[in-house]
Amino acid sequence: MRIVVLAGGIGGARFLRGLKRAAPDAEITVIGNTGDDIFLFGLKVCPDLDTVMYTLGGGINEEQGWGRAGETFHVKEELAAYEVEPTWFNLGDRDFATHIVRTQMLSAGYPLSAVTEALCHRWRPGVRLIPMTDDRVETHVVITDGQGRRAIHFQEWWVRLRASVPAEAIVAIGIEDAKPAPGVLESIEQADVVLLPPSNPVVSVGTILGVPGIREAVAAKTVVGVSPIIGGAPVRGMADACLRAIGVETSARAVAEHYGPDLLDGWLVDEADAEVAEQGIEGIAVRARPLLMTDLEASADIARAALRLAEELR
Ligand code: GDP
Ligand code: CA
Repeated sequence: MRIVVLAGGIGGARFLRGLKRAAPDAEITVIGNTGDDIFLFGLKVCPDLDTVMYTLGGGINEEQGWGRAGETFHVKEELAAYEVEPTWFNLGDRDFATHIVRTQMLSAGYPLSAVTEALCHRWRPGVRLIPMTDDRVETHVVITDGQGRRAIHFQEWWVRLRASVPAEAIVAIGIEDAKPAPGVLESIEQADVVLLPPSNPVVSVGTILGVPGIREAVAAKTVVGVSPIIGGAPVRGMADACLRAIGVETSARAVAEHYGPDLLDGWLVDEADAEVAEQGIEGIAVRARPLLMTDLEASADIARAALRLAEELR
């Protein structure tokens, strides 16, 4: 079986770990969000690609959900001692090495997809991880604060401001001209099923779908999604602030309707949202089941349910 997953960071990575357990023989291709990418200290940092790579490769900080296990922060402290900005983005010493290797390869002329493949050679995530595009796409957020109305990098809004200032708009700069990375459209075309994990519907899955050509390719397949919203709230993180910015209610139903029946065939909601399954959504098969990824087995059960629903709808 060939499975394609459009993944952001933590939610995507945890779902993927369950999916690997649920479908050990499947060929899994992960199309990763790169809209969160940021240049820091001259280095190219790809938070979502790295979260997937470290989680599936066994190097993740489990409690945090991002960054490396057993991390130290000497480089960060030294940079702070030089009063080099920014100080609000946490980069550990081990993590720094990844960004150095990546930046070195990019500078030598390799596209991000080739660099990601090279990094995965070490981590062996057990999936094929491809960035959505090799082109530079950066998510920016329009806010109004003491400095007036301005656009800041998504990471500054998310990490420094903890999404406390309302987003007036969320814009993926460069996306109109971005091309899907090599292998992206091919893997979607060859897929038996495309899964949308419980990733951020706006700045993770939404950004991937915004790369010209990807949404159309995905819509042509059997697509099953897992709701990142349970009982009207994101399980962790601040996805509600992103949904608000695009005028979508923070509910399992509204996210499915936002994706739309042209894209989604099936939708898993949590038991807390069982009424969505009972009432139904026009054009989308909805099933209610526990959706908390509390551990590997719970994540695997969710993945199994998504695959069963896809099989039913295929
Ligand atoms: P990020 O890039 O690290 O923000 O990760 P993602 O784009 O993958 O989005 C994480 C999203 O997953 C959050 O916005 C939550 O709404 C959702 N999420 C996190 N943990 C769980 C869980 O256990 N179950 C479900 N259903 N959703 C979750
Ligand atoms: Ca992210």
